[in-house]
Amino acid sequence: MLVKRPEMPEQRPEERIHNFNEVALGYTEEQAVIEANRCLQCKKPQCIKGCPVGIDIPAFIKNIAERDFEASASELKRTNTLPAICGRVCPQETQCEIECTLGKKGEPIAIGRLERFAADYELEKGVQIPEIPASTRYHVAVVGSGPASLTVAADLARIGHSVTILEALHEAGGVLIYGIPEFRLPKEIVRSEVDFIKKLGVEIRLNFVVGKLRSVDELLTEYDAVFLGSGAGLPSFLGIEGENLNGVYSANEFLTRVNLMKAYRFPDYDTPIKKGKRVVVVGAGNVAMDAARCALRLGAENVTIVYRRGEDEMTARIEEIQHAKDEGIHFKLLTNPTIIHGDENNWVKSVECIKMRLGEPDESGRARPEPISGTEHEIPADVAVIAIGTTPNPLIPSTTKDLQTSKRNIIPTDAECRTSKEGVFAGGDVVTGSATVISAMGAGKIAARAIDQYLRRLR
Ligand SMILES: Cc1cc2nc3c(=O)[nH]c(=O)nc-3n(C[C@H](O)[C@H](O)[C@H](O)COP(=O)(O)OP(=O)(O)OC[C@H]3O[C@@H](n4cnc5c(N)ncnc54)[C@H](O)[C@@H]3O)c2cc1C
Repeated sequence: MLVKRPEMPEQRPEERIHNFNEVALGYTEEQAVIEANRCLQCKKPQCIKGCPVGIDIPAFIKNIAERDFEASASELKRTNTLPAICGRVCPQETQCEIECTLGKKGEPIAIGRLERFAADYELEKGVQIPEIPASTRYHVAVVGSGPASLTVAADLARIGHSVTILEALHEAGGVLIYGIPEFRLPKEIVRSEVDFIKKLGVEIRLNFVVGKLRSVDELLTEYDAVFLGSGAGLPSFLGIEGENLNGVYSANEFLTRVNLMKAYRFPDYDTPIKKGKRVVVVGAGNVAMDAARCALRLGAENVTIVYRRGEDEMTARIEEIQHAKDEGIHFKLLTNPTIIHGDENNWVKSVECIKMRLGEPDESGRARPEPISGTEHEIPADVAVIAIGTTPNPLIPSTTKDLQTSKRNIIPTDAECRTSKEGVFAGGDVVTGSATVISAMGAGKIAARAIDQYLRRLR
């Protein structure tokens, strides 16, 4: 029995920092079959428990081991509408793979890589559309088109309900399309999986801002139920001097300009963005890694991640941190920005920082970073990207009657994704705050079941 998984082929760092093409290239058929044959096919598989959408992991892996790749993809699609996306961006190492029995003695099965392999195989060969039962005549409005909304829409459509997605932006996919960069998640992959959902009969209306074009209360007069999957797209800032200088971006704005508005395809797309030579990115989550790696690909000579805690506290996936290091991104840990200095034209000139040390745990249970006086220093920079988190936008809470919200516009729900308002359900980042693709999808699945039960009681 092999204890190690085959390496994932990927573009070399020296090459990939000059392009936006996908970094990880995916398993070949041979690699996928070798890896699938390492699976022990446990009688009581623990891996399934680690998956928020409950994929029958041993079953889809067995199909790969038997070289029945089509059956493997169908098995995945039974419970996961977005397998090619999840196979690329899910933090499997802390979810399904951490539960794998093989992980006790060697490397756990590369569940994510195998998921990606089977899903890509199907996308290449042509996706099978399942038969849809006769219409139930119930109509559900789904706000937003991120992973929570796409999942709820697909699951409801598959049981015969009519679904209309209302999306504020001009393209569907939420963070998958406007946030996560092309080199981690090609937009063609997102479009193909969104296309599958359209083929299930889901209508998608773009440029539709709920709270402006129609309120949730108005939607309730046209639809039998409403699902809120509007995410957490409002950026947080540091609140320090100089944050309004030219050349300071929130990570959301920076990544939207690069990805959705295609700044990286200059001169085909003349999207205004400052292409910095020396870029400072504040934060250490996936968003910060993505912003730093995009800045590098836009032509920066020096990109520095500044983070007030240490290596162990960084929240980005280990793989993304490693990719950033391999590409030459500098990490200044236990360092906090205090002032952003500007030049005579109000463009960023440098970021003043102070060294930190970790003290006693704070209310979140993590060690509290404390400044060390006398350690102030400046990092020269012409662009600063702030990637320290996001919260839900206040638009929907402020335009909906009797919708209970908690701090920072979070919409609380019960375990069935029901909000305080009759007929209105919610899931994903708008309920949890910034989390993960798969947790948003897990909420979408729970909400679909709850909405179905709710609709059936309306009869
Ligand atoms: C840069 C970045 C990288 C990330 N990397 C990873 C990763 O590697 N792995 C991982 O698991 N997670 C990652 N995440 C987190 C993950 O993408 C989110 O947790 C997930 O997308 C949340 O899904 P959602 O459906 O709740 O909302 P979103 O994906 O945020 O989608 C919400 C949608 O609602 C729309 N909307 C908002 N308000 C309205 C309105 N009033 N009317 C109509 N539409 C509206 C928005 O335009 C958006 O399209 C990353 C996030 C970012 C920003």
